[in-house]
Amino acid sequence: MSFASLGLSAPILEAVAKEGYDTPSPIQSQAIPAILAGKDVMAAAQTGTGKTAGFTLPMLEILSRGDKVQPNQVRALILAPTRELAAQVGESVATYGRHLPLRSTVVFGGVKINPQMIALRKGVDVLVATPGRLLDLYRQNAVRFKQLEILVLDEADRMLDMGFINDIKKILAALPKDRQNLMFSATFSDDIRNLAKGLVHDPVEISVSPRNTTVKMVEQWICPVDKKQKPALLKRLILDNQWDQVLVFSKTKHGANRLSRFLDESGIKSSAIHGSKGQGARTRALADFKSGAIRALVATDIAARGLDIDQLPHVVNFDLPNVPEDYVHRIGRTGRAGASGQAVSLVSADEFKQLSDIERLTGEMLERRMVDGFEPTHSLPESRKVHRPLGPKRPKKPKDGHRDGQRSAGNARGNNPPERARRGTEGRQAPRRRNPG
Ligand code: AMP
Repeated sequence: MSFASLGLSAPILEAVAKEGYDTPSPIQSQAIPAILAGKDVMAAAQTGTGKTAGFTLPMLEILSRGDKVQPNQVRALILAPTRELAAQVGESVATYGRHLPLRSTVVFGGVKINPQMIALRKGVDVLVATPGRLLDLYRQNAVRFKQLEILVLDEADRMLDMGFINDIKKILAALPKDRQNLMFSATFSDDIRNLAKGLVHDPVEISVSPRNTTVKMVEQWICPVDKKQKPALLKRLILDNQWDQVLVFSKTKHGANRLSRFLDESGIKSSAIHGSKGQGARTRALADFKSGAIRALVATDIAARGLDIDQLPHVVNFDLPNVPEDYVHRIGRTGRAGASGQAVSLVSADEFKQLSDIERLTGEMLERRMVDGFEPTHSLPESRKVHRPLGPKRPKKPKDGHRDGQRSAGNARGNNPPERARRGTEGRQAPRRRNPG
C-alpha cells in the first residue's frame, strides 16, 4: 500500500516522501481513510507506531480543502499532555504541512503567554496545546473555537494520569458540538472509556502495537569532568541546552540535597527526593516536576524507583551508580520511539570502575564528549574495547586487544560526535511557529 492510495493529495505526499516514508504504518493505513471519511476515531497506539502522522496527515488534507481561518479562530485543535509532546507534534504538523498554505502554532505553560496570544491573533489552522495553557488563553479571549472542525486528544491516558480531566472537560464545553473527534491513547482503561463516551461518536476503533523499527532510542554519552566541577557542569548543560525537564540521579541523599540547593541558587528551579523525605514532600516535588514548576528533580535510585514518570526527555547521572544495572534502569526513564531521549553521565576519574562495569554490562562503549572549560585535570582513563557483554565466555582471540582498545578510545573522545548524536542535540529547538508564504 502507498500513501497516494490513501487519498492524500500531492503537497502532503511530497512532504511524506521527503521524510523518507514509503509505506504507511498499520495505524496510518487504518486511520487515514477513516479520518478522511469524516469518522471519529478511537485508537490504541503508542509512540513509535507512527500515530502522529496517522492523525496529522488526514487532518491537514481536510483543512487544506476548507475555508480560510478567521482572526483568533482555530480549525483543528490537538491536545497533548506535556510541552515536550506538544512541541514534537507541532514539529510534525509543520513538517507534513510544509507545502500547504496553513498556519500552525504550539502553546504550553511555563513560558510567557504574550507571544502565544500574538501568534493566535490572525487565527491558526492547527493549534497544538497543553490543556492548562489553552484554558488560560481561552479565558483571555486569545483563542476562539467557532471554526473548530477537528479535535485530537493525543496520549489521552497520560493526560488523565496528569490530572487534566477537569481542564479537558472545560475545553470540550467550549467547542462546537459538530466536530470530528480523534482520540489516541496507549491504553484503554475504564477512565479513558468513560471520557470517550462523552466524546467520540460511533468511532472507528483501531488498535496497533509498536513497530520494531522505531524502538525506543536513547542517546547516551558521558562528560569526563573533575568531581568538584560537576555541579557547575550540570548547570551549564541545563542552561546551554535549554533542558526544561531533567531528572538528575545522585548516589546519596546528602548529595541530592546539596545539588538541588546549588541548582536552585543558580536559578534552576529544583527539588530533591530521596528516602528520608516524607510522602507528601515527594508527591509535591513530583507534581511540580510534571507541571513544569520545577525544572530539575534530583533523585536517589531508591526514590526514583517508585516514581510515576516515564519518557523523560533528559536524564543526567550526576554520579554513576555502584551497581551497573541501576544505570540501565536510570536511562530507561528517558527515550521514546522516534524522538531520542538523552542520558548524560558526568564521570570523574574515580568512577572509572563503575564506568567499566556499565560498559561491560551493556556491551557498549559510551561516547565521551568534553565540554569546553570543563576538561578534567584528573583524566579519566580510556575505556578498553575488550569489554564483552556479560554472558557465556567466547574463545579468546590472539593478543591484539591493547592496540584495538587505544584506537577505539581515541574515537570515543567525543570532539566529533556521530551523526545521530549531533542531530539529537541540534534538533532540540524551541517550538516553532510556521508562517508560510
Ligand atoms: P510516532 O508514533 O508518531 O511518534 O512516530 C514514530 C516515528 O516514526 C517518527 O519518528 C516518525 O517520523 C516515524 N514514521 C511515522 N510514519 C512513518 C512511516 N510511514 N514510515 C517510516 N517512518 C515513519
